[in-house]
Amino acid sequence: MNSQDFRKNAHKFVDWMADYMENIESYPVKPLTKPGEIMAQLPLFAPTDPEPMDDIFRDFQDIIMPGMTHWQHPGFMAYFPANASPPSILAEMLTSTLAAQCMSWQTSPAATELEERVLDWLREMIGLPANFHGVIQDTASTAMLAAFLTARETLNDYQTNHRGLSKAGRHCCYASAEVHSSTDKGIRMAGLGSDNLRKIPVDENFTMIPVELDKAIAADIEDGHKPTCVVATLGSTSLSAIDPLEAIGEICRKYDVWLHVDAAWAGSALVLPEYQWMIKGIEYADSFVFNPHKWLLTQFDCSAFFIRDKAALIRTFEILPEYLKTREGDQVNNYRDWGPVLGRRFRALKLWFVIRSYGITGLQNHIRRHIEMTHTLAEQIDREQDFELLAPNPLALFCFRYHPDDKSEAQLDALNERIFEAINDTGDIYLTQTRINGKYAIRLVSGAPATEQKHLDKAWQIIKNISRAAK
Ligand code: PLP
Repeated sequence: MNSQDFRKNAHKFVDWMADYMENIESYPVKPLTKPGEIMAQLPLFAPTDPEPMDDIFRDFQDIIMPGMTHWQHPGFMAYFPANASPPSILAEMLTSTLAAQCMSWQTSPAATELEERVLDWLREMIGLPANFHGVIQDTASTAMLAAFLTARETLNDYQTNHRGLSKAGRHCCYASAEVHSSTDKGIRMAGLGSDNLRKIPVDENFTMIPVELDKAIAADIEDGHKPTCVVATLGSTSLSAIDPLEAIGEICRKYDVWLHVDAAWAGSALVLPEYQWMIKGIEYADSFVFNPHKWLLTQFDCSAFFIRDKAALIRTFEILPEYLKTREGDQVNNYRDWGPVLGRRFRALKLWFVIRSYGITGLQNHIRRHIEMTHTLAEQIDREQDFELLAPNPLALFCFRYHPDDKSEAQLDALNERIFEAINDTGDIYLTQTRINGKYAIRLVSGAPATEQKHLDKAWQIIKNISRAAK
């Protein structure tokens, strides 16, 4: 494609993008595509000869678009949001065009220095201590793995990287029973073994019980094992529980165990002064992660990982063959050594565009608006005799079920599962489900930038009508 054709197509695509954003509500939030339906429309073999961009774009519209779930749709209230925003999209266009691989300072000094500065801004914005150092990872799962590996290495004087784990003893990790599956996966990837992940019981608010954590660590020490890392969750995935960081931190300090804080979704709410209570006790943490790509208007992928002892992180990951050496050495940040991957996209640019375009107040308004709208809807649902909330809802997420009088627990589960499927089949809103104390629960999260009060009102009408008709 020559420059003239690129320009022509790029203008056409930008018009399409702006139309898409303006008209997103006209799409079903979740397609009713059946497995294999898209694949059946794709040729079995790659084309031998070049195809015109007009044909490719036509197939994008005709084949791909009907099979897309629209995460920016105002009715998207499933999983956690994956925010995008116009400034972030514009920055991604520039990032794609520059196509820089930002593994070391020398491979793009501006990308490295911008990343450092923007993460310092972010650290200040969310109230982390000044002695935390930030780096962008692709996802919170990668950050979790980096935390586990660094905790493992510091505990073993960096020897397990060389000798392996076979003679290093049992490394135990601890997290609440509500922890996200990325902790289980991280433990597997770090070679620590899922059997050594202790799921600590939770209280009536679904938050970790510190005394149970203390007992579990003490028992492992007694048995000659090595307590390695505790994961405290701020904003659990199922129901947004906030673990008591300070009490957990005191226990980590007592036993000298690494404390990683997983605030993947809820961390964005720390831009609000009224949510700073969530990180009371942050001075005990060794590492912290949250995803601006979830709720802070920044395109996937962008996970902000902060660590107190950056030298420990670097020592865990640094491998320096001749071909990677640069003359600046360690006078500069070489982010290739700050996590598991070598190649890195220029992700700081979109964060910079977003923070500057919205300002801190704009970001605060976005988060606050979603929390307020969600609380209003949760209160409405709670007032209805035949609905019940199943857990506290401190942020922009709540779990509920339809609960007419005359049903057993098994019947309620089946009824709510039917209601849930029928709600999602409308194509107007998209929710996900979970289980709370064994009960089937419908889960609603508000966070898409396009979602307004009228969309939550509409969601409530849909939920109410479908539930009462299903009875
Ligand atoms: N931690 C929590 C609490 C989450 O909810 C999630 C994902 O939703 C993750 C970690 C994993 O995030 P990522 O997809 O960035 O790896």
